[in-house]
Amino acid sequence: MAQRKAIVNIYEQFKELLGPVGAGIGLNGGALCLSKLGYRHVWEDVAEQIHHVNQVSPSGNISRMFPLDLLKNTPMEGHFICARRDLFIRNLFKAMEENPDVNIHIGEKAVNFDQTKDEALVSFESGIKDSAEVIVCADGIHSAGIDYIIRDEELAAAKHTGHCVYYGIIPDIGRDMPDKTGYEIDVGGGCTIMTMPLPNREAMIAVCHPGNDDWHSDCRKWSFKVHDGELHEVFTEHDFYNRQSIITPEMVMNTYRLLHLGVFEKQDLPKWHKGRICMIGDACHAMSPFLGQGANQAIQDAYLLAEFLDEMPYEQAFQAFYDVRHPTVKRLVMASDGFGYLRIVDSFFGNIARNVMRAGTKYAPDKLLQLMLMKTMAPNFL
Ligand SMILES: Cc1cc2nc3c(=O)[nH]c(=O)nc-3n(C[C@H](O)[C@H](O)[C@H](O)COP(=O)(O)OP(=O)(O)OC[C@H]3O[C@@H](n4cnc5c(N)ncnc54)[C@H](O)[C@@H]3O)c2cc1C
Repeated sequence: MAQRKAIVNIYEQFKELLGPVGAGIGLNGGALCLSKLGYRHVWEDVAEQIHHVNQVSPSGNISRMFPLDLLKNTPMEGHFICARRDLFIRNLFKAMEENPDVNIHIGEKAVNFDQTKDEALVSFESGIKDSAEVIVCADGIHSAGIDYIIRDEELAAAKHTGHCVYYGIIPDIGRDMPDKTGYEIDVGGGCTIMTMPLPNREAMIAVCHPGNDDWHSDCRKWSFKVHDGELHEVFTEHDFYNRQSIITPEMVMNTYRLLHLGVFEKQDLPKWHKGRICMIGDACHAMSPFLGQGANQAIQDAYLLAEFLDEMPYEQAFQAFYDVRHPTVKRLVMASDGFGYLRIVDSFFGNIARNVMRAGTKYAPDKLLQLMLMKTMAPNFL
């Protein structure tokens, strides 16, 4: 919006932006939008290109899941990456700070929204207030804006997907793991381990598991306390070192920035705006991370909404934004859910469904890639 000559005031509740915000983040369609806006440098230095994603079956068979060389000569070429989350956010913050039309206020938590016929109003916990022509709530899954816009507590609430995830960074992938390669490893018991390459031979690791007593986790909590060495205990307790040969004890013991999270998603909403106030990103369509699309879609939202607000009056812009983006993200929320279910389900029929999905990605990868990447992950409005 600032590039289109609007004055933008950004308010962020946390004082410390670079806290333990997680590990790596897979970017594709979002990275392409940033490049188009002239912000390629924001991800380029802190990301690793991904050339292959391999799947590993419980018997140890390795097959190629997505042959990413198929992206050659498409707009997505060079934009399938995994970035260090903290460094990516730091670079984004710096880029916004350098823009003279953006004013950043940190440590300000929005608590109330309202509007008159001339302006949108927001007040903060600290007591300060601000007003603007429009307000965009990019305030994540715990959005304050959604309460004002939807006014239906049940519909606005996030729901647990039944899955939880350990999420951290392996500081050194050792000599045996190839460069620029991600893995999805089925270790049985309804549990999948994923890795994605990061710069300097680091890797993001995610261990997705059902939320239940076997995992000392349940489906109510947003996050669980972790202690040093906990991931190693998990690997030992569930026999993961013997069930796969990609991740070694050394990698697991040295994993840092470890989080243990419940996986939540937002419900399908009939609208994302009310008058002059609109939501984007996780605030209105948080999805489970199994397709790595939440941030990609949030960035695409921001790109398109800024374009529409520049081209038409705000009411038309908000409605056009919903009309274009809602079908895409609705499909992705469902697909992420389906992928999550297939990765984690541990039943007779679930295993059959998972094998069918694996055969699909193994034997018809170009079709799947086109279908998934080009039609849903890649921005369809550029
Ligand atoms: C384990 C895991 C792995 C993931 N992996 C990927 C991946 O590989 N690729 C991908 O694309 N996505 C991934 N995601 C999803 C991604 O993290 C989110 O979709 C994305 O961060 C959403 O961005 P957002 O800006 O909408 O919300 P957020 O990132 O949640 O940002 C919201 C911001 O608003 C601030 N805020 C909240 N309330 C207020 C308030 N009242 N006042 C002021 N400020 C407020 C918050 O502090 C925060 O800084 C993953 C998620 C998880 C849990």
